[in-house]
Amino acid sequence: MKINFMSAIAGILLIISGWKMYVTEWDSHYKMPATPMAGCIIGLLGLILFISALLPPSRKKKAYDNKLFICSNCSEKYKAKHVEIFVCPKCDGKLVGYKE
Ligand SMILES: [Zn+2]
Repeated sequence: MKINFMSAIAGILLIISGWKMYVTEWDSHYKMPATPMAGCIIGLLGLILFISALLPPSRKKKAYDNKLFICSNCSEKYKAKHVEIFVCPKCDGKLVGYKE
């Protein structure tokens, strides 16, 4: 959620600087003239970043988070969102996908 918030802000900043570049035809960051086209592109990038930040996490990601992994050694089950390396924290056994 924190990351989404950050990219929303970054998106807004990009939109503003793109819009400024478009109107003034001046790149205030690099201190040189900019074409309106460049302003357009930067503004669009900002818009894409902003919109993608507002969209909820995809269902696919959620489905993966709730997927279970089971230790092939001690049969302990773990949720995918808690699994970073596919090794059991208890016994160092290999974690494999669990089918219900
Ligand atoms: Zn284990």
